[in-house]
Amino acid sequence: MSAEIDYYELLEVERTANDGTIKSSYRRLAMRYHPDKNPGDHEAEAKFKAISQAYDCLKDPQKRAAYDQYGHAAFQQGAGGQGGQGFGGGDFGGFSDIFDTIFGGGGGQQQARRGADLRYDMEVSLDEAFHGKQAEIRIDVSQVCEPCTGTGAEPGTNRRRCTMCAGHGKVRAQQGFFMVERTCPTCHGRGEVIEKPCRVCRGEGRVDKPQTLEVNVPPGVDNGTRIRLAGKGEAGPFGAPPGDLYIFLHIKRHTMFERDGTTLITRVPITFTKAALGGDVDLPGIDGERLKVTIPEGIQSGKQLRKRGAGMPVLQGRGRGDLVIEIVVETPTKLSARQKELLCELQATETGEECPGSKGFFERIKGAFLGE
Ligand SMILES: [Zn+2]
Ligand SMILES: [Zn+2]
Repeated sequence: MSAEIDYYELLEVERTANDGTIKSSYRRLAMRYHPDKNPGDHEAEAKFKAISQAYDCLKDPQKRAAYDQYGHAAFQQGAGGQGGQGFGGGDFGGFSDIFDTIFGGGGGQQQARRGADLRYDMEVSLDEAFHGKQAEIRIDVSQVCEPCTGTGAEPGTNRRRCTMCAGHGKVRAQQGFFMVERTCPTCHGRGEVIEKPCRVCRGEGRVDKPQTLEVNVPPGVDNGTRIRLAGKGEAGPFGAPPGDLYIFLHIKRHTMFERDGTTLITRVPITFTKAALGGDVDLPGIDGERLKVTIPEGIQSGKQLRKRGAGMPVLQGRGRGDLVIEIVVETPTKLSARQKELLCELQATETGEECPGSKGFFERIKGAFLGE
């Protein structure tokens, strides 16, 4: 099952984002992945195309509405191609069909409504978000009733044309000056009625059943990433197509790393002697590798060091972000008598030149006291 990354996800905006927000986020990302800026990088090019495709859809209120309701299926039905082919050039394939469904265009028998989309919340650890994960979930989903194959009629019994609507599924009624068309109350839009409802589903055509599903969580997912499992939502009523299942991901907190997009941040306490003298420290990376970090002599607390490519993988892209190592200089609190003695000796040799920041600061204060 392929994971299709949500358009909102691709553009790094909320589902409720307004046009301005979507536009500026698109510009920022388009700039970053533009082929001119990444010559020869096919992954960046693919990402650029995906972003443009997402923006093409979301900038248009009608397409956005269709996407919100139908997801990627809005642009795949009848288009024939896979993976968004024939999309970029403004060829939306079966798009108008979808609009007919939404806005009730076209006449004749009413098209049965599609099953509801479902949401499933899944927690993954940062390590799983790093490596990706093949997960199995168990959910109760309404599925097509097998004995009646979704018709709602008891096997072996007949269905007949609805007399109320003459099989159209819709009835017309005068309402004030207007003639309105509404779903037939007798057959609920099916155009036919059943003699005897199926005993298993009580005529519903669907039954709730526990289901086990495989979910492919790709590497690089973040909080709020949505994975769509097409057709794994609720079964449609009376044999109508099923809805989709959306897996909403939540990333658990990690004891060592914080995350900001593809950047990982870790705070590393070092002794003040190491801060003064410099030296190497070993850190475990998110991928389990040992990272050697060289602390330069005279490093200050709060200083950030960067390990390129030791961060999170790019979702549906190539490469990794960086690891930011924030240095925290720890002042010793449990000194032995001997160590204190050594520090006193060190202090006695201080001229102030060793610490220009502190020297300058206290000189300025002195100036302030003397009113200079
Ligand atoms: Zn009817
Ligand atoms: Zn049934």
